[in-house]
This record gives sequence, structure tokens and C-alpha cells, in this order.
Amino acid sequence: MSDQQTFDGMPEKLFACTPYRLETWLDCPKKYRYTYIDTPKPPRGGPWGHTSMGSAVHNALREWFTLALESRIIEKGAELVVKYWRNEGFRDVEQSDRYRFRAQNWVRQYLIKVDPHLEPRGIERTVSTTTGRLSLSGRVDRIDERDGELVIVDYKTGKRPPDEAETGGSLALAIYALAAERTLRKPCRTVELHHLPSDTTVAFRHDDASLARHINRAERIAVEALEATAEMSFPATPGALCAYCDYARICTDADRAPAQPWAGLDEQ
Ligand code: SF4
Repeated sequence: MSDQQTFDGMPEKLFACTPYRLETWLDCPKKYRYTYIDTPKPPRGGPWGHTSMGSAVHNALREWFTLALESRIIEKGAELVVKYWRNEGFRDVEQSDRYRFRAQNWVRQYLIKVDPHLEPRGIERTVSTTTGRLSLSGRVDRIDERDGELVIVDYKTGKRPPDEAETGGSLALAIYALAAERTLRKPCRTVELHHLPSDTTVAFRHDDASLARHINRAERIAVEALEATAEMSFPATPGALCAYCDYARICTDADRAPAQPWAGLDEQ
């Protein structure tokens, strides 16, 4: 039976999904259809500058933690940004160079506060767990171990610094915590967003009740998505996200023009 077939709104086998899939459903059911249901896959828009920037930073930090201790120096992090930089989604070479320089400074500023002896329990580690209805998995930027507990670390490179409400309210982070706990067999209650542009870390400590609320919510979202899939009903919910949607160029429901590829970069 495919994951699209349901009984009483739920699949006989567990519905395998990621937090990103559930969040895509919340963003816009039509985008969910384009991303997960349609075959062949519809054409997506081109690369975004802010995505290129975020990828280079994530890749640089991932590799930095795999280096031998003597190589874990701050400047090496900046070099790795150059190694992973792609000139994609920028207005021109001048803009790309300027943002690469900025990304290098974010990484330098971040690594000043990192103990090079830190050995994360996981780097871009895939973790998974099951609920009564779902098989959930996701890839975590970094999993630390502190005082006998695991801590979820998620790097952010967007314009706006996160706050505690966003950190605690993140479905993805809560799922990562539960999945890391199950996968690595150690308690995991604390989740952190590390926002490099503002050099801030926002932490939230979950308890059993808050994690259970997130799992209930994940199951409710999955039920909606599965029921819609069974009926092939994916109503568009146009709005501000359309400007940055990868399908805005083909979607007849988009209520605004696609943004320029570099519009997500912070010009401040
Ligand atoms: S362009 Fe807007 S309405 Fe169309 S799929 Fe994307 S988010 Fe949904």
C-alpha cells in the first residue's frame, strides 16, 4: 500500500516524512503537490543568493568539525566558505564577492566562541523516530553532548534573528530532539538556533508535554496531507511566500511576481 492510501484518514503503514515535508504542507498545499506528488517533477526556479550563502556557511562549519584538532583554526573556517561558495543567485560577481566576504566574517565571528576540542555527537546526522502514525526523519546540522544530554544545534543565516518563541515553537527542532534521543539513546531536551549574522544563540528546553504537543501537531498535519492526497485536492494558499516559491513561475495561483534571486539577501 502506498503512503497515499488511507483508512480513516491514516495509512496502514507509517507515513514516512520529514519536518520539511510537513512545513511545506503548511506553507501551501499546492506547493506540497508540486514538491512531493507530481510526476514528472515540475520545473523549479533557479538558485537563490541567500540559499547559496547559507549552503556555503553550513558546509564550511560541517567540514571544520571534521578536521584534525590542529587544523581547527578560525581562519580555516573562512577558507572553507570560499571552498564551498557558488556564484549562483547573485546579481553579479561584485555582489557575490561582497556576500562571500560577509559569510566568511560570520564564520570567523562564530568560531571565536567555539572550543576546537568540541567533538559533536553528530554533524549533519540523520536521525529518525516513529510515532503511532508517522516515521519521521531529518538531518540535524549538529548534535552536541553536554552534561550527559544531547543538544540540537541548528545554524541560521536568514535576515531576522530568532527568538525563544520561534525556537520552542519549531516543529522541526522538536522532531529532531525526539529523533536524536531515539537514534542515539540519550536524553535530548534542549534545542538551539545559532544565528550567525547577529551572532546570537537562542535555546529552548522541551519537556515531555511540549514534545508530545509537537508530535500531535505533526500527526494532524500528516492526516490533512494524506486526506488531500487521497482526494487529489491541493488548494493554493497564495501570499507573501509566493515571491520566494520555487514554483512561482509556473503556478497560476501566485499572487505576486517572483522575487529577484538576490532579494533574500540582507542589504544592511
Ligand atoms: S506560488 Fe504561491 S500559491 Fe503557487 S505553489 Fe507557490 S506558494 Fe503556493
